[in-house]
Amino acid sequence: MNFFELKTGLSVEGSEIKAYKLDLKGPKHLYLMAGVHGDEVEGVYILKELFSWLRQTDEAAQVPLIIIPILNIDGYRAGSRTNSHGIDLNRNLPSLNWTSEAREKKYNPGVTPLSEPENQYLVKMFDKYPPHLVISFHSWIPMLNWNGKNCQKYADYLARYNNYPVIADIDGHPTPGSLGEFGPQKYNTSVLTFEAPVISDTKGLKEIWDENQTGLKALLCSKLIQSMD
Ligand SMILES: [Zn+2]
Repeated sequence: MNFFELKTGLSVEGSEIKAYKLDLKGPKHLYLMAGVHGDEVEGVYILKELFSWLRQTDEAAQVPLIIIPILNIDGYRAGSRTNSHGIDLNRNLPSLNWTSEAREKKYNPGVTPLSEPENQYLVKMFDKYPPHLVISFHSWIPMLNWNGKNCQKYADYLARYNNYPVIADIDGHPTPGSLGEFGPQKYNTSVLTFEAPVISDTKGLKEIWDENQTGLKALLCSKLIQSMD
């Protein structure tokens, strides 16, 4: 499939944030993104591999698709969760329940919502290309955390392959300023936060990709994605 590069964003340190779009128009966009937390290299790796497969295949569903390989490019280079202002981008989005209070320093939401250039870039892109489903790759305790009314089916689909627990955020802990809160509120979008496992002695990046590639490729070729209702 053919992708072209969208206008880049700029990080706090002035690095380019890359984004790519499939050459296909439509009102409902599928976003695949990673590196919101810069130290979560597992998610970045999965999306890198998935994107290189997408470029080579013609089997994937033909839907308007946008890829943001690494949103927090400064944090990725520095190996830090937060951006170069020390702010957690997944607590800085202007959700209704945004708060300036943080349980721990690593969840620092910033002084005001949407203060960070990386998130400003993301929101600008959402405004231009409205999201219908966002899959954001992170790493932590493996799970498929879904938000938004039509999202669970995507999580269930992937869980059949990787056996990760499917978690609804509705009854869980609120995460003010996260994409999972903000996306459904502002854009009525589904947000699937894909938590990959973290590298361990027994599992490297390649093994983490291997336990996920079949399911992710199948999902992207599926009728679920083709119809994205
Ligand atoms: Zn994360």
